[in-house]
Amino acid sequence: TWASVKMGPPDAILGITEAFKKDQYEQKINLGVGAYRDDAGLPVVLPSVIEAEERLLKSCLDKEYAGITGISNFTKLAADLAYGEESIVLKEDRLAVTQTISGTGALRIGGEFLKKFHPSTKILLPQPSWANHAAVFRSSGLQPETYRYYNKETIGLDFEGLIEDLKNAEDGTAVLLHACAHNPTGVDPTPDQWKQISEVVKAKGHFPFFDMAYQGFASGSIERDAFAVRYFVEQGHQIALCQSFAKNMGLYGERVGAFSLVAESSEEKARIESQFKILVRPLYSNPPIHGARIASTILGDAQLKAQWLAEVKTMADRMITMRQLLKDNLEALGSTQNWDHVTSQIGMFCYTGLSGEQVDELAQKWSVYCTRDGRISIAGITSGNVKRLAQAIHEVSK
Ligand code: PMP
Repeated sequence: TWASVKMGPPDAILGITEAFKKDQYEQKINLGVGAYRDDAGLPVVLPSVIEAEERLLKSCLDKEYAGITGISNFTKLAADLAYGEESIVLKEDRLAVTQTISGTGALRIGGEFLKKFHPSTKILLPQPSWANHAAVFRSSGLQPETYRYYNKETIGLDFEGLIEDLKNAEDGTAVLLHACAHNPTGVDPTPDQWKQISEVVKAKGHFPFFDMAYQGFASGSIERDAFAVRYFVEQGHQIALCQSFAKNMGLYGERVGAFSLVAESSEEKARIESQFKILVRPLYSNPPIHGARIASTILGDAQLKAQWLAEVKTMADRMITMRQLLKDNLEALGSTQNWDHVTSQIGMFCYTGLSGEQVDELAQKWSVYCTRDGRISIAGITSGNVKRLAQAIHEVSK
């Protein structure tokens, strides 16, 4: 029956993990991982998450199904976190929201909703973007295209290219925007550039579709990382928003996320939510409950939330420190190249500017593994390996 099924191509990132595992060298470094590691290189379960789980265990909740759009206390608290408790759309009860299978599920529900109800089925993605974006939207029946984003020469934002492409796109096109900590480049627009993007999006009647997978995890501040989302809402844009609690709560495998749409009125919100249910029901019926309970236990308790915020900041600060250490070490080794982008970029990923050949050399000669686009995961850097890493990068980039 399946004789005609062809072998699919391997996942680029998983390939790196394989190669890393095979390498026998003791001081090998894996910079391909998309999850946070502490300074000893180990995965982290946040103390606030452990505390929330202990409370949940003691409260002996049953395991009955959540509603189709999830646990309502969770979706309310997730919306508060993203939009701000004082947000006009929350006060006016015009945010349609559903719990999702983490950020990927939010993107998929958003994609399905657009396919069904948005007049244009085109969606513009930054070039480059998280590799799964195009796959998710294509699977939803949309046509992903790209807008210029990254400038190889400056290892920074191609702001003129971005604005030009948004201006040249057909009016009313959906545009995917990374709310903060752009993956894979680590390059974000400045607040002033966001304001200009908002103006163009408004003038063109484009539909701003935000993916916020790193709120708090980028800068260490929930508010700062939500700047673009909240600014667009203040400017009257009816945005779409995908949220993930994978990174900022370290709930990766628990699959905790939310998808929301700003509606014009409370009545419109109700109609949209009824359609969320119609989309979700045949896909997975209703979302998992454990992770959403953890998140709402944390967000719903002032003391536990404060503890969590401090923990998020610790993670963000560690990455900011590792960026600085990497740059300092490269300079101390006498590298004459400009490494300013290492510290000006933000989040878990850094586009080093290394070529595919240089990346191959890193793996072969130094047992340092990262993707061939030169993206390194800052989470894989520790105070113990940063010196050797800098040496390796310096040697291959001389
Ligand atoms: N969007 C972006 C930009 C991401 O980097 C990721 C995770 N790497 C996601 C969405 C989704 O992740 P998850 O489904 O684990 O929440």
